Amino acid sequence: MTPTLAYAAVSAKTPLAPFSFERRTPGDEDVAIDILHCGVCHSDLHTARNEWNNTLYPTVPGHEIVGRVTAVGSRVRKFKLGDTVGVGCMVDSCRNCQPCTDGLEQYCDKGFTGTYNGSLYGGAENTYGGYSSHIVVRESFVLRVSHDASQLAAVAPLLCAGITTYSPLRQWGVKRGHKVGIVGLGGLGHMGVKIAAAMGAHVVLFTTSADKREDALRLGAHEVVLSRNEDEMAAQAGRLDFILNTVAAPHDLDAFLSLLKLDGTMTLVGAPATPHPSPNVFNLIMRRRRLAGSLIGGIRETQEMLDFCAEHGIVSDIETIRMDQIETAYERMLKSDVKYRFVIDMATLAASAV
Ligand code: NAP
Ligand code: ZN
Ligand code: ZN
Repeated sequence: MTPTLAYAAVSAKTPLAPFSFERRTPGDEDVAIDILHCGVCHSDLHTARNEWNNTLYPTVPGHEIVGRVTAVGSRVRKFKLGDTVGVGCMVDSCRNCQPCTDGLEQYCDKGFTGTYNGSLYGGAENTYGGYSSHIVVRESFVLRVSHDASQLAAVAPLLCAGITTYSPLRQWGVKRGHKVGIVGLGGLGHMGVKIAAAMGAHVVLFTTSADKREDALRLGAHEVVLSRNEDEMAAQAGRLDFILNTVAAPHDLDAFLSLLKLDGTMTLVGAPATPHPSPNVFNLIMRRRRLAGSLIGGIRETQEMLDFCAEHGIVSDIETIRMDQIETAYERMLKSDVKYRFVIDMATLAASAV
């Protein structure tokens, strides 16, 4: 066992604070990783504050991890000491069911093991995530990072925000000639804009924040629509092939469903604590529209996304924070004031823990 320093919440009402625990000694198939950077996903906040009513405490959030390999088990073949690697939202799954054998571990019939708040070996103890000094992960859930060494902090958010947007854009076949809407310019949304643009789509960004217009265009959007402006919304009615909705709060889905063409799909990835108002059935049946959902992405597809981003020069736009600034970052996230992902410099953990 290895003593590990971290930041944890011990209840929904307490701020994150220094916390110590022990990581397992790496087994034959394990990779031990020193964590360099960890992105701050809105799911971290939902979990720390028990907004999904499933948090096991103490909880150590963080599932956008980039780090360096410090040890490998005797059967590890893909990684060696000193390699730069990533860990996303999953650290294990049953590896036997149909979704697992199809490379869709996120839809494992038995439930994947989350990087945090996952049940450890089926027991009550929960996994601890990336707001920590290091982590031990089974080789098959570790990703190769091929971006330049100077970009590693900005690569971290790809491990969740990147794959969560890449996977549905691929699944629904987004390509050149498609008009694609991205709703919400936060961590997920800004990755959605970059990736959809790199896939060749015409990208329309829908935002509630007028001051994000210029940024959205710089990030790759071709058009920006203020979703609270009825005229701007009406101008898009029936024009979009696909919409990826990343909003973290309940809102009126009809406003967006009515923008889809015949047979168009809106896929929800945002996971608000309380339900959206039910959409109007007529908005769906009149043009055979579809409302769908999508969860992160499998390990194989996460590697594909990392390689795609490296090839297209895509990283996240980040604001680096110290570990002890995490609560301020959460408060800013709640005000949609993220440009466009906070990433914790994990070198600040020790100093933040005294
Ligand atoms: P984020 O950085 O906070 O971004 C969310 C964005 O949604 C905000 O920046 C804002 O963009 C918009 N927004 C917020 N409140 C809104 C409201 N009341 N009405 C309309 N728009 C609003 O969060 P994130 O990290 O991207 O995560 C987004 C959601 O996805 C969270 O619920 C998270 O838990 C979930 N998630 C799901 C998966 C999955 O696998 N499905 C994976 C990761 C995260 P504008 O300022 O542009 O309006
Ligand atoms: Zn996430
Ligand atoms: Zn499985």
